[in-house]
Amino acid sequence: MDVQYDVIIIGGGPAGMTAAIYASRAGLKVAMLEREAPGGKLIKTFEIQNYPSIKEMNGADLAYQMFEHSTHFGAEYLYGDVNKIEDGEIKKVISSDGNTYTAHTIIIATGTKERLLNIPNEKELTGKGVSYCAVCDGAFFKNQVVTVIGGGNSALEESLYLSQFASQVNIVIRRDVFRAEPIIQAKIENEPKIHVIKKHLPVEILAEDGKVGAIVLEDVETKEITTIETKAVFPYIGADPNTDFAKDLGITDEQGYILVDDHMETKAKGIYAAGDCIDKVLRQVVTACGDGAVAAQSAFHYIKG
Ligand code: NAP
Repeated sequence: MDVQYDVIIIGGGPAGMTAAIYASRAGLKVAMLEREAPGGKLIKTFEIQNYPSIKEMNGADLAYQMFEHSTHFGAEYLYGDVNKIEDGEIKKVISSDGNTYTAHTIIIATGTKERLLNIPNEKELTGKGVSYCAVCDGAFFKNQVVTVIGGGNSALEESLYLSQFASQVNIVIRRDVFRAEPIIQAKIENEPKIHVIKKHLPVEILAEDGKVGAIVLEDVETKEITTIETKAVFPYIGADPNTDFAKDLGITDEQGYILVDDHMETKAKGIYAAGDCIDKVLRQVVTACGDGAVAAQSAFHYIKG
């Protein structure tokens, strides 16, 4: 069988793009498959302040620079929504449009997807005030009240972004402490438009004229119900790995994160994983890039023997 590629990288976020740079620069024939725009979570991130040498940059701009770099040494960038991998000495990657790609090695760098609140009207009002991307939709809510759910880095960073447009940004957290890093918490405290509602959980979103009109909150201790008017709800309550297509390979843990060794190799020989979709302690752009570099180098050694 003619093998099309040395390496197929599934996912075009920071991990996948770095793997593309390293593998193609090492002389391998590389394809990077992505189902959305390249950049992954970066393109939905307002500001990056912790990528060395870049003190501050808009996420989409950094994604664009990385993308240009990722194809510079000859890696092919292809559209593809992968729904199956067939393992073997030669590996097959099958995408939902019916295309099959073959390669000696695979690097899975598919990142994570946003967790849903799973409360009434969330799905119905998505795109009508419920949004999982402040950078994409925040500007629609100029001079209006918006509500962010969650207290992690994403929730707080995107709340700061929203405070540029909105008249008020409510942040609803279920405990009385944030999960986000102290440096981001300090910025929240200094932003007068931000109003933090502690120890509450969202229980329902209410519609008004077919759009978000209010959110119903429950006090986690007293169970008291409060309704607050808001024109938008931005859930930022964490994420789950995009690895359903890899389940049959037996390389994931019970939450779906891919288990890798120090070489980013899974227990399926020649299949590597990198970035937010692996089981790891620190999910950052810089760690995703590091994983991608290691995975590409490991794929190189696997192919060259
Ligand atoms: P996260 O750190 O897991 O935080 C999730 C937040 O949502 C927590 O406040 C959590 O509350 C809350 N939450 C979870 N389930 C909930 C529910 N059902 N109802 C209400 N609230 C709920 O998620 P993230 O902010 O998306 O970050 C994901 C990863 O990316 C993290 O490792 C993060 O450090 C990283 N990240 C880093 C940066 C950066 O370094 N600048 C930026 C973005 C993301 P509890 O705290 O009570 O569990």
